[in-house]
Amino acid sequence: MEKIKMTTPLVEMDGDEMTRVLWQMIKDELILPFVELKTEYYDLGLPNRDATKDQVTMDAALANKKYGVSVKCATITPNAQRMTEYNLHEMWKSPNGTIRAVLDGTVFRAPILLDCIKPVVKNWNKPITIARHAYGDVYKGTEFRVQGPGKAELVFTAQDGTVQRQTIYDFECAGVLQGTYNKDTSIQSFARSCFNYALSTKQDLWFSTKDTISKKYDHTFKDIFEEIYQTEYQQAFADAGIEYFYTLIDDAVARVIRSEGGFIWACKNYDGDVMSDMISTAFGSLAMMTSVLVSPDGCYEYEAAHGTVTRHYYKYLKGEETSTNPMATIFAWTGALAKRGELDENTELVRFAKTLEEACLETLSSGIMTKDLCGLAEGVETQPVTSQAFIQAIRTILEDKLA
Ligand code: NAP
Ligand code: MG
Repeated sequence: MEKIKMTTPLVEMDGDEMTRVLWQMIKDELILPFVELKTEYYDLGLPNRDATKDQVTMDAALANKKYGVSVKCATITPNAQRMTEYNLHEMWKSPNGTIRAVLDGTVFRAPILLDCIKPVVKNWNKPITIARHAYGDVYKGTEFRVQGPGKAELVFTAQDGTVQRQTIYDFECAGVLQGTYNKDTSIQSFARSCFNYALSTKQDLWFSTKDTISKKYDHTFKDIFEEIYQTEYQQAFADAGIEYFYTLIDDAVARVIRSEGGFIWACKNYDGDVMSDMISTAFGSLAMMTSVLVSPDGCYEYEAAHGTVTRHYYKYLKGEETSTNPMATIFAWTGALAKRGELDENTELVRFAKTLEEACLETLSSGIMTKDLCGLAEGVETQPVTSQAFIQAIRTILEDKLA
């Protein structure tokens, strides 16, 4: 069989630990035999980030901006323990944070659905995609404890010297204080990323905040979304037959539970953090969650939602067999290849990506799966296998399908 050709390179960001091991297996077994893979490779593994003083992360993010599509392996975000483990020069920042800042993008997370794994919420029969505004709010908050009675105020000094001042609370005892912010520009980018992604995946878009309580802060989010929708997207949504609607987060939670899925739920930073963990757990497994970062100007970065699976990696280093689930990482590759193919009008590449996804799902439906899924599958005789054996089984089906 002749290998499928690519015109534009895909930006490839390698990573750490168990997912780095899976990365190589996936390329060797499921991609390189079939595709004349053209990538611009960046090694975001922690040793290379340290050696390049994290320049490699910035270079990879800029390449993503240049070419439009990238695929990223999970990476370690260093903490104190990693400083000693990897003998680091500095506690480098989260690569995902750096890339997100360069692309000014929004993260969309969606589960991979299987007939044999029933979500906890039985009426969910389509994926629910969470869009998290990954900027500002409590994640960029300033906070301190107050030791005793005193007046807390919110003060803003404009460039021209004008001062806005409001009392937060007259403390009669010790307590806590927190200042958070967000920017219109960031909220606008968030809104455009959401509207664009809804159009590109032809799904309804829901957006929720707590605007009844937060009459300025959250209400600004609601207003910005509404204005951008009215002026830029209303017609396109009508043409695509999809809907945008805003609702209070309490109401959204109730509707989500009663829904059958099949929509995008846009959330503020904290809500998105928490709700995405709830959604992925209810759909089955973190190992089955895909993630894509979409910038307002249409750049895409695909990855798995889970981390580097450290516990499995330490077993692997000891020579033990591991059964780490490669599905989300494979789907990061297929997502990126399909998007690259779509942008380059390379139908063969798009078809290959879809066929690989089908081969993965057929393998799982036949009962061959990694250990994490065996306990979740119903109505099928499961056969727990190692990552290597699972990928081999997918390859066999893939070869059949492509022949
Ligand atoms: P994790 O790597 O997602 O793993 C947490 C646990 O979830 C694992 O120990 C495993 O449970 C299960 N799990 C996750 N993915 C799995 C898979 N593909 N197959 C089977 N089981 C899977 O999270 P973590 O242990 O908190 O973090 C490890 C490292 O990843 C950290 O250094 C963190 O900084 C990094 N991280 C990176 C990203 C990213 O690059 N996007 C995201 C999150 C975390 P059992 O041990 O019970 O089998
Ligand atoms: Mg979280």
